[in-house]
Amino acid sequence: MGKPSGFKEFKRKDARALEPEERIKHSREFLVQLPTKELREQGARCMDCGIPFCHAGCPLGNQIPDWNDLVYRDSWKRASDLLHSTNNFPEFTGRTCPAPCEDSCVLAINEPAVTIKNIENAIVERAFEEKWLEPIVPLRRTSKRVGIVGSGPAGLACAEQLNAAGHSVTVIDRATKAGGLLRYGIPDFKLEKWVIDRRLELMESAGIEFRLGTFIGQDVTVEALEDEFDTLVLAVGASKPRSLTVPGVDLKGVHFAMEFLAQQNLRLEGEDTDVLQQHWWGAGDAAEISASGKSVIVIGGGDTGSDCVGVSNRQGAKSVQQFQYRPMPSTEHEPLLSWPFYPMRLQTSSSHEEGCDRAWSTSSVELLGEGGLLTSVSTVELRWDAASGNMEAVKGTEKVWPADLVLLAIGFIGPEPTLAEAFQLECDERGCVIANSNFETNKSGVFVCGDMRRGQSLVVWAISEGREAARHVDAYLTGSTRLPTKGEGDLLSL
Ligand SMILES: Cc1cc2nc3c(=O)[nH]c(=O)nc-3n(C[C@H](O)[C@H](O)[C@H](O)COP(=O)(O)OP(=O)(O)OC[C@H]3O[C@@H](n4cnc5c(N)ncnc54)[C@H](O)[C@@H]3O)c2cc1C
Ligand code: SF4
Repeated sequence: MGKPSGFKEFKRKDARALEPEERIKHSREFLVQLPTKELREQGARCMDCGIPFCHAGCPLGNQIPDWNDLVYRDSWKRASDLLHSTNNFPEFTGRTCPAPCEDSCVLAINEPAVTIKNIENAIVERAFEEKWLEPIVPLRRTSKRVGIVGSGPAGLACAEQLNAAGHSVTVIDRATKAGGLLRYGIPDFKLEKWVIDRRLELMESAGIEFRLGTFIGQDVTVEALEDEFDTLVLAVGASKPRSLTVPGVDLKGVHFAMEFLAQQNLRLEGEDTDVLQQHWWGAGDAAEISASGKSVIVIGGGDTGSDCVGVSNRQGAKSVQQFQYRPMPSTEHEPLLSWPFYPMRLQTSSSHEEGCDRAWSTSSVELLGEGGLLTSVSTVELRWDAASGNMEAVKGTEKVWPADLVLLAIGFIGPEPTLAEAFQLECDERGCVIANSNFETNKSGVFVCGDMRRGQSLVVWAISEGREAARHVDAYLTGSTRLPTKGEGDLLSL
């Protein structure tokens, strides 16, 4: 801890966001990083508490107090080395992570938390700027070949770890560019895609092969894959969307959130939106979807819904309304809901700030249309019983909302079933592939990680799963492993 009085001297300061009316004119990232002096002061706010809960709150076990201290001391290269020793892709988490570490920060008990996520992003951006990051080329190669299906954050983290251990790694994806939901789900205003390309270049230079535009189960059989590789890791995500079971859901103008978001990302990448079917299972008729000039209703209050709000505003929607099933959470800090419990506080994302009305305790009853075309949504208000968690529709609260575009963002059921079926893998009731504690499925030599195993989750969890799976694959192939487990950083060697 460099500055014992730091948390008393300095107030929390976040990266500056461009004004909403300015940033919705484009799809680029809109945060302007703090100058170095202020970043160092933010690092100094870390109290280096005896038991840093942030370290446990981060699914990667990032050694947060140590790199906060290094930033305060202006030792950015060492901070980057330490950060990369537990996290393969801090530039992805530094931009997209909901930062459970900050919810578990001890300072957050009575002050705003340390700006952990922003400091993480600043460290990795400085490392790229200074060209400190180099391809991780192994000293020697084993003769083992590993095939990884899925190039999302789980597959990429697994690939980097196994390549570092000396195995020959091939990452296979049906999409034409690698990145999974980082590229085709998360909007550019949260993560510009050059950020992914920059990392992929390092990975390719380290010797990882990318075989893209290859649909396993269609272009290549499971048998051919098993013949080619000594072991396989499946990391194909969990993109099967949950639908709404109300009349009118088949009307023209009603789409799953991912159809809308993936199309926008494809457009911005200069890719043909017709290929959506190859990228995302369940995509409708691949018709062009646009929010321009429309009354948009986003059904579902989570992060995907919030992304739909941000993209709708950037496309020039006439109005954006979001329905949330649950009641509005408190805006106050609830001491009884502090870490390790999820802080049930009102979340207002940057997309909400850009223009969106939110209706709480609102349930869609029917989607109405004329001539097969959506015109409105009828809803009813719900009354929730806090003690039992039950809810009931409140008579007399029925309402009809005009709508030209409805985006369904009510979550994901689980992985697409086809690959698990082709491999004859055991799945749980959600369709997620079951693995033992070594990430190995019921089929010997076939491993699974990321959303395909745990269900739709977070980028930070996908990276964590990819790293853990890699350790077990390495041990499976060679009998032992030196790859690190969660939170095993390398401070001693710095
Ligand atoms: C719209 C949206 C926004 C999100 N925003 C955030 C966020 O801001 N922060 C956050 O932490 N998390 C976010 N998430 C969640 C996060 O993106 C995922 O948890 C994470 O990407 C999962 O990583 P993964 O590697 O397991 O799978 P994915 O990223 O889903 O990658 C799976 C890959 O497998 C490929 N694939 C599938 N089937 C086959 C096949 N048969 N053959 C070949 N390839 C195949 C797919 O093309 C895809 O590239 C968001 C999710 C969505 C949908
Ligand atoms: S990866 Fe997420 S949880 Fe971990 S330190 Fe970074 S922002 Fe926090």
